[in-house]
Amino acid sequence: MKISYQDAVTFPFTRQEFLDHVNFKDYGIYVKRVSYEPLHANQRVIRPKMATLPSPLALFFGKTRTRSTIYVFPRAFNDEDTEDDFISNLIEHEGEHARENYESPTSLWRLILKGRAKIKDASIQAEKRAFLNQMRKSKGRNHSQGHMTSLLAGINTGIS
Ligand SMILES: [Zn+2]
Repeated sequence: MKISYQDAVTFPFTRQEFLDHVNFKDYGIYVKRVSYEPLHANQRVIRPKMATLPSPLALFFGKTRTRSTIYVFPRAFNDEDTEDDFISNLIEHEGEHARENYESPTSLWRLILKGRAKIKDASIQAEKRAFLNQMRKSKGRNHSQGHMTSLLAGINTGIS
């Protein structure tokens, strides 16, 4: 039986199964694994909805053609979001990070040598690009107002 997005929202125990069957299409080759991460109650406030972790070789040494792991946290299944919002965040935002990690990873060592400000700046620029990618692909989709507002904020500031 295929788990629907609504099932995954309602029944947290189905979320990993749901994520295992999301079709990443063109982004599939950049993603090693999508992992649902249930959290303790006191972690909920500070965690993002989703996060993408490059392979250690990409992260530290800038090695290309390695796949990333995407972590999905409970907030991602917030019931104010539409299914299109969720898929936009998962594939066109996190998948875009995974694509960059695969094709043109930024070596953390190189950034460290350049100084702390460079690390923050690189991360803000990567966020802006991912939000822009989401916006470009949003036409004709069923997005909530909140989603579109956070895309606009993200494109401008790198933070949603
Ligand atoms: Zn991001």
